[in-house]
Amino acid sequence: MRMRKQIAAANWKMNLSFQQGEKLLDDILTAKIALADHQEVIFAVPYPYLLMTRSEVAEEKNYYTAAQNCYHKKSGAYTGEVSAEMLHSIGVPYCVIGHSERREYFNESNAVLADKLNLCLENFITPIFCCGEPLSIREKGTQNEFVAIQLKESLYHLPAEKIKDIVIAYEPIWAIGTGKTATTEQAQEMHAYLRSALAAQYGKDIAAQISILYGGSVKANNAKELFSCPDVDGGLVGGASLVAADFIEIIKALK
Ligand code: PEP
Repeated sequence: MRMRKQIAAANWKMNLSFQQGEKLLDDILTAKIALADHQEVIFAVPYPYLLMTRSEVAEEKNYYTAAQNCYHKKSGAYTGEVSAEMLHSIGVPYCVIGHSERREYFNESNAVLADKLNLCLENFITPIFCCGEPLSIREKGTQNEFVAIQLKESLYHLPAEKIKDIVIAYEPIWAIGTGKTATTEQAQEMHAYLRSALAAQYGKDIAAQISILYGGSVKANNAKELFSCPDVDGGLVGGASLVAADFIEIIKALK
């Protein structure tokens, strides 16, 4: 069976000038952290930085670039939007889909996210599909049911051979940008639940091949512990990915 990937994914969000982004990449790449075959580093950068990032990582084994979003229609009169086909045409291999900030500020529904996933897969782009519950749901203790609906409504129309090609990021909303990290127990519990839900839908072998990243205040000093959980396959990292020394430590924490 294919070994599932361990991934450190940086999400720059709407931060950094082009020049600052270039310097950050240079600082991280000059650390020359060699990645094993089953490890990857992905930089999810703003659209105008994609080509620069792609050429920065071009010579580096298992370092890749990602878009942070794409539009849910194939093409047409959608001024200001960017399609999956466009991303593919400039050689972008990954795209973050359904980040909680997009769900919240841009009203992206599970159904719209299903369309985005389809378009990514049709265009040979691996989606990094984000799911996760808000604080009110965690407090009620219904987080499993909440994420199960996100998976069902956005993913389960996909056949097994396609689901293998996606990466999932579990990001409890109460932990994003708050400095409040899920405990290793909370992360492992949810990741194991997600994997069991995928196994129920697609079988154990397929579920075992899907990388499930944790996101929510991953830092240099907690990455190792979080990534050591058996069902946590790395992280999607916001704030700490903007500081070279911190992100370097996070890359080094990959299993
Ligand atoms: C994110 O952007 O997906 C994220 C988890 O942010 P942070 O690491 O800053 O909490």
